[in-house]
Amino acid sequence: MPEPAIEHARPTCTAQPALEADWQAELRQAYRDPQSLLRDLGIDESAIDGLTPPKHGFAMRVPRGFARRMRYGDARDPLLLQVLPRQLEHNSVPGFGNDPLMESQFQPQPGLIHKYHGRALLITTAACGVHCRYCFRRSFPYNEAREGADGWQKAVQALAADSTIEEAILSGGDPLSLSDDKLTRLIDALEDIPHVRRLRIHSRQPIVLPERITGTLLARLRDSRLRVVLVVHSNHAQELDAAVASACDQLRSAGLTLLNQAVMLANVNDDAEAQARLSERLFEIGVLPYYLHQLDPVAGAAHFAVADDRARGIMRELNARLPGYLVPRLVREVPGEQGKLPMNWGL
Ligand SMILES: *Cc1c(COP(=O)(O)O)cnc(C)c1O
Ligand code: SF4
Repeated sequence: MPEPAIEHARPTCTAQPALEADWQAELRQAYRDPQSLLRDLGIDESAIDGLTPPKHGFAMRVPRGFARRMRYGDARDPLLLQVLPRQLEHNSVPGFGNDPLMESQFQPQPGLIHKYHGRALLITTAACGVHCRYCFRRSFPYNEAREGADGWQKAVQALAADSTIEEAILSGGDPLSLSDDKLTRLIDALEDIPHVRRLRIHSRQPIVLPERITGTLLARLRDSRLRVVLVVHSNHAQELDAAVASACDQLRSAGLTLLNQAVMLANVNDDAEAQARLSERLFEIGVLPYYLHQLDPVAGAAHFAVADDRARGIMRELNARLPGYLVPRLVREVPGEQGKLPMNWGL
């Protein structure tokens, strides 16, 4: 398949696993205002329709390594569009609200979301390596859910008290924003619960900050008695450079199963070509496509929505050009259902 066009420097990939200090330093240097990001990309502010002033609401955050994968001088770059705050976010659109999944109703304990059979989701942290403008948790009441730095302890107790739960899912925010030390303690606690067999981690860090995959983290996951599944989050083949490929390689060598979930996003990946290239590139780096989400109707993200009919048409085209194992499941989350609802795109 064609290589994604990247016209300026790529991060070089090192064979050695990264150290914790590396990613924490990288994160501190992330872009936090649109002006400096646009300047480094050689894009004139006037080329962007309605930039939001910095520090307004959900702040901008973009790791430099991720920005280096954006096309120089291209105001319509699919990576840039995912992270650039826009005035459009302040439009109120009917049907787009603050708790679109009604998750506040499914918390037996703050920080634990138990909606689906056998699986429970731990909200481990509010922090993320990147702030995606379409994020459905952009208005989640994290402070209530967490209750302080180690607020997940009560959530772990609630999980231990329900023997129907076989799979613990670490979510957030991004669970890989936690230090190796905190993650290790959390995994220790989960391993102590006899009915938990699987550990699933949902993270965008291997994509936006591949330095996060440290030797310490790899060793801890390799040694776990739990079967570990890592669901990464990539929306576009251009996100998947050599450094990401190397991180995925190391994760697979540690015995993890790697899956991807993406979100269907207007002007980012809402065509069959972009989706096919994403699936093919994921497979090249050892990741299978899992879910393709129709956008959750969260306030501020309406400009990313893709109509259902269009999404179904893209799936039919994908199905015609890819092997079945590279076709993700198009799903929508509907409050009150027993799982994510597959959207039927066939006859
Ligand atoms: C998505 C999700 C899961 C996992 O669902 P799968 O279909 O197994 O991937 C579990 N709990 C919650 C609350 C979720 O949103
Ligand atoms: S990394 Fe995930 S949780 Fe964090 S802002 Fe992006 S979509 Fe939201």
